[in-house]
Amino acid sequence: MTPCRKCLLSELSDLSLYEQVQKTVAAIPEDLRCTEREYRRRLGICRECGELLSGMCLQCGCYVEVRAAKEKAGCPLVKRRW
Ligand code: SF4
Repeated sequence: MTPCRKCLLSELSDLSLYEQVQKTVAAIPEDLRCTEREYRRRLGICRECGELLSGMCLQCGCYVEVRAAKEKAGCPLVKRRW
C-alpha cells in the first residue's frame, strides 16, 4: 500500500488498525529495529502503564507497538520507563 500523508486511520477501512500497525512495524528496516526480546520487554512495561489507552500512548500519541519496535525510540516520559 502506498503511504498517504492525508489519510487518517479511520479512512483506511480496507485493513484493520492492528494490521496497519503490524505493517508499519514490518516496514521498519531491520537495522533500525530493536531485538525481539527488547521489544517484548518494552511492551510489557507499556502494558502496565497508566498512560496506555487502546494501544496508544497518551503521552505522545504513538501506537506503542510501533514506537517500541524502533531501537532508538524511547518512552516519552521525563522519567523514561524504557
Ligand atoms: S511509552 Fe512510556 S508513557 Fe507511553 S505507555 Fe509506554 S511506558 Fe507509558
